[in-house]
Formats: sequence, C-alpha cells, structure tokens
Amino acid sequence: MKKKLMHAVILSAACVLCAGHLAAAETIPSGDPEEQTGAVSDPEDTDEALSEVKKMLEVGEETDPTEKEYVSLKEVQVYESPDENGAVAGSLRFETKVEASPAERAGWSLVTANDASGERVHGYVVDSALSRTSNIEAAKEYLTVSADSEVLDYPGQRDGDVIGEVMEYDEVELTGLIGSTWGRIRFLDDELEEKEGYVLTDILPGAEELAQTLIEQQAGRADENADADGVDAGTISESSGSGIFAEAEDHITAGVSENSYGVMVGDPVAVSSDAKLIPLGTFRITHYCPCSICNGPYINGATSTGAVATTNHTIAVDPTQIPYGSKVVINGQVYVAEDCGGGIKTNCIDIYVETHEESDAKGVYYTDVYLLEE
Ligand SMILES: [Zn+2]
Repeated sequence: MKKKLMHAVILSAACVLCAGHLAAAETIPSGDPEEQTGAVSDPEDTDEALSEVKKMLEVGEETDPTEKEYVSLKEVQVYESPDENGAVAGSLRFETKVEASPAERAGWSLVTANDASGERVHGYVVDSALSRTSNIEAAKEYLTVSADSEVLDYPGQRDGDVIGEVMEYDEVELTGLIGSTWGRIRFLDDELEEKEGYVLTDILPGAEELAQTLIEQQAGRADENADADGVDAGTISESSGSGIFAEAEDHITAGVSENSYGVMVGDPVAVSSDAKLIPLGTFRITHYCPCSICNGPYINGATSTGAVATTNHTIAVDPTQIPYGSKVVINGQVYVAEDCGGGIKTNCIDIYVETHEESDAKGVYYTDVYLLEE
C-alpha cells in the first residue's frame, strides 16, 4: 500500500518532465488513499515502473526547472494550451500548491496540481496568477472575536464572497495570517459546521501584533537570502505580475497623474448636456481602492481588461451586463467599464477611488445609471 502510494506521488512529480508522462499521470488516481488501492495491480510492475521513474527523476534533477508555486488569485483557470481563449482544463483556488515550470510561451507556466475536489489538473496558467511563496503565514491561536463580521472565502473584499458570519465574543481558531490585514479562521457556520474563511485582523484581538512578528521574522529571513521579497512591516508583497507600480509610468496621459503611492488619479469628466443617455436602471454603487482590504494579498492596479485602474475613470462591472469599454454615467460623471470583481453582480458597480478612507466615506448607495451613447 505504501509503495503504491509512493509510486503515484513520484509519477505525478515526474509528470511535468514530458508530455507522455503528463498523460500517464492522469490515469493515476490521486487524493483519496482508498482509491490508490488497485491503481497498480502487479507488484513487479510497480517496482519496475518505480525504478524507471527514479531514473527519470535523476536525469531530470539537473535540468528540471520545476518549482513549487502557489496560486495567488481567488481562482485561476488552467488552460489546455497557453492561450486565454483556449479550452479550459480546470481551475485552481487561492493558495493551491502547484508544480510549475516555464511554458514555451512567455508569461505562462505549465502547472500540475490537485484542485479543490482532489482532481488532478494540468495545463497552462498565466504567471501573474502564481507566487513563489505562500501568501499565508501559518498560525494556531484561539481568539475571541471583538465585533460582528462577515466571513469571506478569499482575503479581499472585492473578490471575496460571504460564506458565513462570526459574532462578537465567538471563539474562533486563527489558522493563518495574510499580511497584517487578513486572518484565516476556522469557525462554525449557521448549521454548526466547521468552515475556514477570512476576516479582517481588526476583529481578532492580538492577531495584528502576531502578524507584525511574523512579518518581521519573514523580513529577517528574506534579508538573509539577500534577494528580499520586499515584505515590509505593514505592507503586502507586490504581485509578480504587472501591477500599478510596474506599469504606472507608461500610462501617464493628459488628465491623469500618479500620486505618491503609485495610484493613478484621473480628472473627473462631466457628461455633456447634449449627450445621448440610455437608462440602465438603478444600481448598487460601492467603492474600492488599491489597498489590501479591498484586493487581498496582491495589490495589483492592473484591471481585468489590462488597463491601469484610474480614479474618476475606472469602474468594475458585471461584464455580461455592461460590456468592457462602455462609457457609463453615474451622477453626471462619465466612467469607463474596465474591471470586474467576484462581488460585482448584476446591477452593481464598484467605483475605483484613491484611498480606503475615501472608499469607506463614500460607502454604498443606490442611484440611476446610464449608458453614454457615442
Ligand atoms: Zn481599499
């Protein structure tokens, strides 16, 4: 039994070496140990295959570019070819550990991993959705919640969906920290079922201090490694992808300037009095900014359309309702639909603003929204 399990593990580790073994590994059940029984029936075959794989691994050791990486977005699509319009092989959730090696197309990696249901997935993922290091520092603390709060399935208000709530004085287990902003907790939902989800550390007494300690330890480790990952106390590591910091300078145009935090600030554009407006109905208007409360561990000013998010300009929409590129009028001001978010459903619009204070101050309201016909 043990040997068979090992076999499956080694095969799957080797399967990134070549396409043939990708296919071979697909037939090996993974995840549930019960299922492993009978996967390989003949013990001699097992030994033979095992030594063959070992040989392959030895050969591959010097040249194998495979690395362990982590999914850094809430969910990422795995494609059968390095092409976002191609067939989808599966999807992987935040923090899934993957075996990744550079793909033939720049900006893509070839990955192998188990998805949330234990199913083996391989294919191509965009590099910007992967992180060399885990986003979560493990913790194990029992805490008493200091205020009522919703619990999200991802540490970011834009993409996170509510999966439950905790009330003041609830006892929860803190299982991890994402920067100093988010805590991963184990809690009981309405049906008294144990679940894991994310809340802000400001409702978890002691969690922020613990996060600071972990961040300092991590920074110390990074210093030792010389190539520090850029983790400073109180900030969240920057995405390996092209974020606001990387791209901002290339995108300065008239009416747009970069503030000292790297946020692109646009001048408001008022709708002209003779504009043709098509009513879209009443919308729920919310606000987001480039902070880690809104976006999670990866502060990334790149929108889902690739445009650099700009205040007084960028709005996140449900693109099935309002196509990207549409000009949308809210309270007499013209915005452009160029982003989306997990929480942005029909008749919801999220307006990009400069700071979280501004986002909080502007809050949530309902108003009539129009499409600007050009
Ligand atoms: Zn924010």
